[in-house]
Amino acid sequence: MVIFMEHCKAIFPKKLYDGTASPAVERVAVILQGSQIVDILPADAAERIEAYHPERIDAGDKYMIPGLIDVHTHLMMEGQGPLAEETLSRMSLGEVHLLGLQNALKALRAGVTTLRDCGSVGGVSRNVKRFIQKGRILGPDIMICGMAVTSTGGHCNYMGGEADGVDAIRHLIRQQQKDGIDFVKLMATAGGTIGVARGNTFQPEEYQAAVDEAHRLGLKISMHVCTYDGVKAVVDTGLDGMEHCMFYNDNEEPRRDVELAEKLARNKVQMCHTLSALGATLVMLDHKPREEWTAFDHSEYKRISEGQRKLYETMRFQYECGCELVAGSDSGWRYCDFSIGLAVALKLMEKAGIPLPEILVSATSRPAKYLCVDDRVGVIRKGMQADLVLLDEDPMITADAYGRVSQVYKAGRLVDQLI
Ligand SMILES: [Zn+2]
Repeated sequence: MVIFMEHCKAIFPKKLYDGTASPAVERVAVILQGSQIVDILPADAAERIEAYHPERIDAGDKYMIPGLIDVHTHLMMEGQGPLAEETLSRMSLGEVHLLGLQNALKALRAGVTTLRDCGSVGGVSRNVKRFIQKGRILGPDIMICGMAVTSTGGHCNYMGGEADGVDAIRHLIRQQQKDGIDFVKLMATAGGTIGVARGNTFQPEEYQAAVDEAHRLGLKISMHVCTYDGVKAVVDTGLDGMEHCMFYNDNEEPRRDVELAEKLARNKVQMCHTLSALGATLVMLDHKPREEWTAFDHSEYKRISEGQRKLYETMRFQYECGCELVAGSDSGWRYCDFSIGLAVALKLMEKAGIPLPEILVSATSRPAKYLCVDDRVGVIRKGMQADLVLLDEDPMITADAYGRVSQVYKAGRLVDQLI
């Protein structure tokens, strides 16, 4: 007989994937008490629990995985088409805060129990994080970078994080650390911001100063890098993570630069390709009846499909060279809605040729370590926080499974689908 304290739940899934590359375990029960996983028992032993009659949750046709971690999102962005510049011209800062909270809840319902915000205006991500942290509403754990650091007129300059020169960059990072950021994000090249000149945004000494200052303050630093030249410019700085990770300049084919990829792998730079940032636009168009497509839709579909092909090729190549992948959606950007963002990103990783066990690790145990929260989340193990997702399909058969979320537990609480 096994005895537990009050208010236990015993969940009996069909299979359990613990978030490492280990194979599934079957015929087990995961025992929750409060916010914690207090045990994982053989199912027959769990059936014999007598004290306090644990609530029995039969999930006999569901697949249990740890709560998912999305390392690249933008809470302040709509994810329904408009660029942030347009959103900010239409909405008050108060409305953008409400949008941020709504996005966080959409992510949670989709199984994302931890997310990292990669750039925001006016303290939106910080305030949403604090509101949830204070327990006012059940939401995902949120890590923030505040405003992304960019050069004057650089990518996402509307966030307000412009800084030029070593001193200004160090000052901005110190200022943001004072405001409570969890990591530093730096825009190392141009991206999708309208009117920003292509190419790198900073000088070599500026990249280095950002990395040195972040590390001096005990913060990790990730860089947005959308060109091959950009990757070469920052690879030796000691950065911790890279977003988008493109191995090609504008109008070029991906480079198969083994030396560069192996250097990123050796340095354990955590590589987040955000395949859904534009991939979600293809999903949106696939759902739109063809007869309703405009000429712009047709040209966008062609342009984005071509870009996606290059990105898949790049990701696969870097993976084969030993680079460590972490899953991120860029939710908020264009048509990447928080309710589908990470599921689309993981599906597209499968399309890019990444093996299914690696996809699960990239969205659970590996980012937990990267974000320094692996003492609490990222794997299903006794003593960990009870962040759990039950899927209708087996994620080792198809990555479509991540879009078939049945139930989500956040710190032991069942997420109400009506939030
Ligand atoms: Zn982004």
